[in-house]
Amino acid sequence: MPAYDVIIVGARVAGAAAAMLLARQGLRVLVADRDRYGADTLSTHALMRGGVFLLSRWGVLDRVIEAGTPPVRQTRFDFGAESVTIGIKPAHGVDALYAPRRTVLDRALADAAEAAGADIRYGLSVTGLLRDDSGRIAGIHGRDRAGAAFTARARLTVGADGTRSIVAREAGATTLRAGAGCGAIVYGYWSQLCADGYEWFYRPGHSAGVIPTNADQVCVFAGVPAHRLVRGDLRATYHRLLAATTGGAGDRLAQARPPGRLHTWIGRPSYLRQAHGPGWALIGDAGSFLDPLSTHGITDALRDAEILARCFTRTGTVDDLDEFATVRSTMFDVVDRIAGYGWDLPQLRTHLLSLSAAMSTELELITNLVRK
Ligand SMILES: Cc1cc2nc3c(=O)[nH]c(=O)nc-3n(C[C@H](O)[C@H](O)[C@H](O)COP(=O)(O)OP(=O)(O)OC[C@H]3O[C@@H](n4cnc5c(N)ncnc54)[C@H](O)[C@@H]3O)c2cc1C
Repeated sequence: MPAYDVIIVGARVAGAAAAMLLARQGLRVLVADRDRYGADTLSTHALMRGGVFLLSRWGVLDRVIEAGTPPVRQTRFDFGAESVTIGIKPAHGVDALYAPRRTVLDRALADAAEAAGADIRYGLSVTGLLRDDSGRIAGIHGRDRAGAAFTARARLTVGADGTRSIVAREAGATTLRAGAGCGAIVYGYWSQLCADGYEWFYRPGHSAGVIPTNADQVCVFAGVPAHRLVRGDLRATYHRLLAATTGGAGDRLAQARPPGRLHTWIGRPSYLRQAHGPGWALIGDAGSFLDPLSTHGITDALRDAEILARCFTRTGTVDDLDEFATVRSTMFDVVDRIAGYGWDLPQLRTHLLSLSAAMSTELELITNLVRK
């Protein structure tokens, strides 16, 4: 049976980033993903400063920029009667944000992981975990696309396998926090839409976002409380929600070409799971999930990869994975309030300020960690 130092289930932002960092330290790393290389996934893709900082430090940001991902130099918060625009001030070596399509970002990370020596197997579904005689998690078993059985051992098995993580389930990770707020999102890619940076729109019971991305396209999402998403005529619903929330974005939507295809997220409440146990660890959405309105999941996944790799290569354990527990919990609370849509606009603005403060604290922790 093949043996590795680390086996990672999931080859997207959390898994590929962790594999890259661990392999760069000379560890033998296997990554199993049941999906295809470079496949898209259900997600918008606005990176926050912590995520851009890590990509830059790892030498992956250049690849994202070379793929034509436009720089985002300001964020506009639109509250209807009032709007606030905040410039992205250069700090920590980051002078712009980016929102690469997942087909760009996940590939760039997977390629960097393979270049570092990680063995990535696509089309490999993990169906269970191995345990040693003491009950410690000791590897994976699964099947490839042809149905052939596959088994491998490792000192550490990492779940980077998203919200329905089989590693979390099989290892028996407990749920530490479960959110009450739950938003639904419909999004698509517009052409010929004038967009100067990120734009976030808020109205009572509604949200929307404008995210410039690759190939001169702009991702535009509309959000509502999950129980209020009417799915009958999705296209009509999408345009009605956008009209209600953005007022047509100053006629810009009317002048642009709308998406041919729409993507729907029906919502699920945020959660925090136990992050590690004997022989296993969880990173990215497998370990914690914040409602997409936070636009923070990818940044969190990259942060988790950095902490996991740093911890395991230095100590051979994953006991310090809880290093960000306090800020993670603060962010969880505020995102849950935003995703619950139980706010009026003054309350929402207070929540956004709290989220911004938590993100600044997290950024300081990330930059201090990387400089250690
Ligand atoms: C609608 C929506 C919009 C979002 N918008 C943003 C945003 O703007 N900005 C942001 O930062 N975040 C956003 N997020 C969150 C972001 O998408 C996630 O946080 C991020 O994808 C987590 O990455 P991950 O690597 O942990 O997991 P995933 O991206 O879920 O990847 C998990 C991988 O594991 C593989 N896998 C699962 N089970 C198995 C198995 N048994 N065997 C083998 N492979 C397996 C899957 O094939 C998959 O490739 C959004 C999410 C949603 C749903």
